[in-house]
Formats: sequence, structure tokens, C-alpha cells
Amino acid sequence: MPDGASGLSGSGTGGPVAGESGLRGIGVSPGIGFGPVRVIAGAVPEPPAERHDGDARRAKEAAAGALDAVARDLRSRGEQAASAGRAEARDVLDAQAMMARDPGLADLVSAKIDDGISAPRAVFEAFAFYREVLGAAGEYVAGRVADLDDVRDRAVARLLGRPMPGLPVSDEPFVLVARDLAPADTALLDPSHVVAFVTEEGGPTSHTAILARAIGVPAVVACPGCASLPGGSTVLVDGTSGVVRPDPAEEDVVLARAAAAERDRAALEASGPGVKHGATRDGHAVPLLANIGGPRDIEAAVAAGAEGVGLFRTEFLYLDRSNRPGGDEQEAVYRRVLEAFPKGRVIVRVLDAGADKPLGFLSPPGEEPNPALGERGLRMLRRHPELLAEQLGALARAAAGTTAILQVMAPMVTDLDDARFFAEACRDAGVEMPGIMIEVPAAALRAGDLADEVEFFSIGTNDLAQYTGAADRQVGRLARLQDPWLPALLDLVAIAADAARKAGKPCGVCGEAAGDPVLACVLTGLGATSLSMSAPSLPLVRAALARQTLGECRQAAAAARSASSAAGARAAAHEALGI
Ligand code: PEP
Ligand code: MG
Repeated sequence: MPDGASGLSGSGTGGPVAGESGLRGIGVSPGIGFGPVRVIAGAVPEPPAERHDGDARRAKEAAAGALDAVARDLRSRGEQAASAGRAEARDVLDAQAMMARDPGLADLVSAKIDDGISAPRAVFEAFAFYREVLGAAGEYVAGRVADLDDVRDRAVARLLGRPMPGLPVSDEPFVLVARDLAPADTALLDPSHVVAFVTEEGGPTSHTAILARAIGVPAVVACPGCASLPGGSTVLVDGTSGVVRPDPAEEDVVLARAAAAERDRAALEASGPGVKHGATRDGHAVPLLANIGGPRDIEAAVAAGAEGVGLFRTEFLYLDRSNRPGGDEQEAVYRRVLEAFPKGRVIVRVLDAGADKPLGFLSPPGEEPNPALGERGLRMLRRHPELLAEQLGALARAAAGTTAILQVMAPMVTDLDDARFFAEACRDAGVEMPGIMIEVPAAALRAGDLADEVEFFSIGTNDLAQYTGAADRQVGRLARLQDPWLPALLDLVAIAADAARKAGKPCGVCGEAAGDPVLACVLTGLGATSLSMSAPSLPLVRAALARQTLGECRQAAAAARSASSAAGARAAAHEALGI
């Protein structure tokens, strides 16, 4: 099995480097992408406090023209989103277009220009007034403030002649290049138009990487210098090796595509015809489940032979929403997912808002200096129990008419009090199988206390690595410290799995580590009872498990844990498993 097959191969290499033949980052979603570069522009600067040249009429025309162009552009993007089946995105974009056309805003801009203020500055100040009004209306409209800022930035960019912020629009497929991509941007992407992602920031477990894997688009993160690639120039992106080659020769593109096709073919062949269930060679069952972000991921999961869903990241449904989804709307989405796995289990995670996944309708009360350590996940829901109750109620109703087994888990659980709170909220809502994610070291270390409160654990190795290595998963430069092979992380997994086993409760793994075929064997050896991953990883993991006995997996786990570095652990496991 090639080391890079999971797309995590670069995570232990100590970071990206610039190579002679191009740029190098961390390959996080395998495959080859080739096409013209479209760069997401950086932030639009605040226009200087300048006066116009005395021609107020011309300044007003410029401001009105910019606002009108922004409104038209947003409307047409809304239409595009709707025809791609994303009606909610159109609602957001239409609401933004209405902000740009607001007559009160236009009057305020005109009045400022009459006072001698330049058009860009007048637009900026008029938006600042509305921003304050919205901000004072409470936290539920915080998402509208972000929408308003986006409209302002678009209008100011037009007036200053700067590139438009946000996702580029293009009629032809392109390689999306950015310093970093917000999950909300990624959620709005039309995968049929983006042939690859390349970002300067973001680690292998950042949500951009996770989304890229889920939609099967080749991606490279932590790639220094990529944001300087000229827009329109062509690049070849290898999402396995992490190499990004500007202006490649035609034969290099053909060769790279042929090599990737060969790799895919070999992987499918290795997973064996008709082999659907995850198990070791000696028959120890390890159900292989899919990580999904919504109904649009079901097809790929079913096609890859997922035995159910091990992680439904419900917050992914609402990344571009500023208003709170109602219970009925949620129920309908959950039912679609449950019905897709009539004989399987579906593990749904309640909203994990905060840090790099801000939800417009669910945000902390004030600025946080360090959002990854702030109010996110269950911490946020404890402050909004009514939202949690609404989501749990929708889940219970959705499950009532289906045959799938519904299990519901909470993210960012830290202690016994958290676990108890969540289990009780589930019982009150009629959800029978409450579980918790183990992604905070405190929860792993005291998993024995928590096991009595809930029905199952699911280890989130992405956050568990982030918090064990004290290295923000968004920061690509720290990828070395987010490596899931870190022996300290393997120790925590072993402690949690052991506590679950003693309590007679299942303990799955749903972090990205489960999708690495070699690590999947090690996790099985550490006591993981199921593995959940992005759909494209399922055949490779199934094939790797089918070649090892449970005893061999245990030996590999012991060898990895006795190493003193991530690289050592990886090498020891490869050697023990003979791959
Ligand atoms: C994790 O932290 O490992 C996990 C699965 O959750 P997320 O990646 O959504 O934070
Ligand atoms: Mg997590």
C-alpha cells in the first residue's frame, strides 16, 4: 500500500517545501487536477477617509453603479446556486442583493457624498451605520452582519478597482487557489466547476481538507507561495504527493492522469469484488462507515459500500445560513439520510458550531481570542438548550418512521457533567442512543467516568490531535504536531477504547485517521470497534483490514505505541504489518 494512498502522507514530513519542479504542500485529497488558476482575493481594505474631487454627481453615479452591479451579480449567483439544487444558498444571496438595493442605504451614501466624502468611503461609512444597527439587535443576526460586510466589500472593491472578494465565478472548470478557504466558501462550491483546491494555510485535518475529500476533489493544503500563482495560468495539482506544478507540459498532464487512474483501478481491485463488510482476515468485524455532511454525500457513501454513517456533521448543512433552521426542515433532511441506510446505523452529531465552523445563527456572545479553545460544540449548545432540544426532537421524529438505527452524539465533550447533560437532553427528546465524541484529552483520560453515562464513544482524532499537540488544525505550518501518528495520541485512543471495552460499550473512530489504511489497522488493534471516513477512503481501508488478522493489528498497535515519534510509529506499524 503506498504511504500516500490516504492523502495524509505528507503530514509527518515536517511541512511543505518549494521544489524545483513546482510548489509543494500537503496532499489531502487524492487525484489529479489540471486547469486554469482562479485565486480567491484577500480582504478588501478599508477605503481611506478622503474627499471626492468636487463632482458630487459623478461620485453618486459611481456609488449607485457599484451597488447596482453588486446586486445584479449576487442575484445571478443565486440563480446559479438554485439551478445546482442549492435553494438555501439562493435565499442568502437574494437577501444580500436586497441589502445592496436598500433605498435607505442609497440615501445615506448620497448624503455623505453631498458632505464631500469620496464614493468608496461614503459606501463604507453607510454600511458601518447599518452594521451597528444589526449588531445591536442581538447575536441571532450576527450572520447577517457577515452578509452585510460581504456586500460592502464587493461594492468597495468595485469602486477601488480591486479584485472581488469571495469565490471566483467562471464558466470553465478551474483550480481554486486561496490563502485559506472558509468552510462556508467550500460549501458553496460547485464541485463540477472546481478541478482542484490549493491553499497556503490549513492543515490535513482542517475542514477545507475534509470537505475536499468528501466531494472527491484533489486538494493540497499548506502550500506556501500558491496564492501568488497568476490567475489564468495553468497548474497541475497532485492531491496525493502534494506537488503543484505551474505551466506543466502536456505530456506531464497525460502521464499524471494515467498514473492516478492506475492507482484508482488497483485500489478498487484490492478491495475485492463483492467484499462489502469491514473485517480482518480472521473475521473480526470492524464496520466501515461513512462521514457525511448531508444528503448530497449519500450516493458516494452507498457506492463505496458504507455499512452506515459514522459521522453526520450536521453543521455542514447550515454553514451558509444566517437564520436558524426550523425543526420540520431538519426532520426532512435527517429522514432522507436515515432512509438511505435502512439496515444500517446512522450516527448523527449535533451542531458543532464555533472555531473554524462558525454558524451565523449560533455564535459566542463576544469575540474570542482563541476560538478553538472557546465556546464551540456542546459548550455552545449548553448555552442554547432550546436549539439542542429542537435538533434532538427533529432527529427523534425522523427516526420514528424508519428502520435505520439512529445514534446521536455530542462534539467537544470534556467531562462527566457534559456527558450527563447531553444524555439527559437526549432522553428528554426521545433519543435512545446518546453517545459522545472523544476529542478532548480530558475526556480520553477519564473515559472510564464518561462510559457509564452514554451508550457509545466515537473518537475524533482531528480535534484530539489538535488538543494533544496544542497545535491549531487551521495552521498548516504546525502540521507536524497534528500528526495522528503521534504516540501521545495513540496512547489516548488506547485509553478511551479500553475504558469503553471495560464498560461493554462500542468505541468507533471517525476522525480522518480512520481513512488511512495503515492507521486503520492500528486503530483496530488499539480497540476501535468501527471506523468512519470519507467515502473515497472506504475501499482502501476495507482492503487493508482484510489482509491482517486482529492479532497482527494488535502487534502493529503495540509497535507504534512503543515508538517515540510520529515518524517512528508510522514506520513501526508498516514494518509490523509488512506493508
Ligand atoms: C474530529 O475532530 O476528529 C472530528 C471527526 O470532528 P471534526 O473534524 O468535524 O471536528
Ligand atoms: Mg472534531
